[in-house]
Amino acid sequence: MVFEGLADKLQQTFKKLRGRGKLTESDVSEALREVRMALLEADVNFKVAKDFVARVKERAVGQEVIASLTPAQHVIKIVYEELTQLMGGTQSRITISSRPPTVVMLVGLQGAGKTTTAGKLAHLLKKQNKRPLLVAADIYRPAAIKQLQVLGEKLELPVFTLGDKENPVRIAQKAIEYALSHARDIVIIDTAGRLHINEQLMDELKAIKNTVKPHEILLVVDAMTGQDAVTVAETFNEQLGIDGVILTKLDGDARGGAALSVRAVTGRPIKYVGMGEKLDALEPFYPDRMASRILGMGDVLSLIEKAEEAINLEQAREMEKKIRKEEFTLDDFLDQLQQLKKLGPLDQLLSMLPGMGNLKKLHGLELDEKEIKHVEAIIRSMTKKERRDPSIINGSRRKRIAMGSGTKVQDVNRLLKQFAEAKKMMKRLQEMQKTGKKGFKLP
Ligand code: GDP
Repeated sequence: MVFEGLADKLQQTFKKLRGRGKLTESDVSEALREVRMALLEADVNFKVAKDFVARVKERAVGQEVIASLTPAQHVIKIVYEELTQLMGGTQSRITISSRPPTVVMLVGLQGAGKTTTAGKLAHLLKKQNKRPLLVAADIYRPAAIKQLQVLGEKLELPVFTLGDKENPVRIAQKAIEYALSHARDIVIIDTAGRLHINEQLMDELKAIKNTVKPHEILLVVDAMTGQDAVTVAETFNEQLGIDGVILTKLDGDARGGAALSVRAVTGRPIKYVGMGEKLDALEPFYPDRMASRILGMGDVLSLIEKAEEAINLEQAREMEKKIRKEEFTLDDFLDQLQQLKKLGPLDQLLSMLPGMGNLKKLHGLELDEKEIKHVEAIIRSMTKKERRDPSIINGSRRKRIAMGSGTKVQDVNRLLKQFAEAKKMMKRLQEMQKTGKKGFKLP
């Protein structure tokens, strides 16, 4: 899980603070020493960690405590605000030109995830009713062009290529002409990477930049490389100039050092993060939501958005009504299970719930296709009346349902219990949705 180590340590530190009625200056200093250690262990840049703690300390010691907060909550609030600032404050979007096509140039080292990200970004923009064109300008890595074509096919989006014999500058130019004549409003150029930064790479990228004048140059870096990613970002920004960073493989980065340092070191914001290999695993980066997750306060807003995207809104509203009126039936339960599957790995979802960050045992847990089939069979073996009111399902009905679905009575029992739990959980989620939408909420 992202920021797992840091989240654990910070939450432990603050738990100790919360136990106290009053905080002395030395309590705060001790806590901040631990915060600094935690940041360093998360591979945050040394200077960034030092400055961060100094800022928090200045505010924590100097300020009047707001009456409605305990001293510990006050410190946590400052840390939350400073973490948010550290990662850029507000969300940074990409510039969409008023005169299409908007040209987005993806740059980065080999293996960072550039080609995959080109596909993901196109997918995201397509969902926002844009008409992206993917451009294969990586003529060096064998199979890069083919990889982009495969992605384009999956996404049902055009891919512009002139093969691997043309000069990348010309490919980019021709691609923009193509976009103009084919009404594509966003051009995403997948440029070549190298294993290391070298002059040849930079010269090529500069040549493309100077010729096509992209609206956005986005650097793709691998979060798992930690401080190396930050150094790469610094160099690209100095030599080429970048508008923002896309941090990939954040799903596999338990430390989070790059996510926390990139902005402070380079002055350039993280615009998107890659959260998996699948094409829908690219998310806009929200500093405030990320800070909230790190501090174990959850990220209910992202969770709601994910749910809204995966779930048919009309149906969801209908469902909400049913839950409110307690008319939620086993048929609805089955629908929900099937939709839940579309939301992605359960551990990513759980990390968005307040206080759920510690459920490490659930890592990698995914809803099992087979189990859903079982559930489906059991529910289909019930009569309409039973589905509407499971309380009538007595012993002999349970036996009949088990026989009919080819399962055991225990399976039927388990399902009925799960259903009752789910009903309870939904009520809780609904309540959380209400408080979550109000914004900042202290643990
Ligand atoms: P390129 O050389 O920069 O074009 O890199 P690729 O796009 O070929 O990606 C390299 C590898 O990283 C591939 O196996 C991708 O599936 C993987 N990858 C890319 N982005 C992510 C991500 O956000 N999460 C995970 N887990 N893997 C990713």
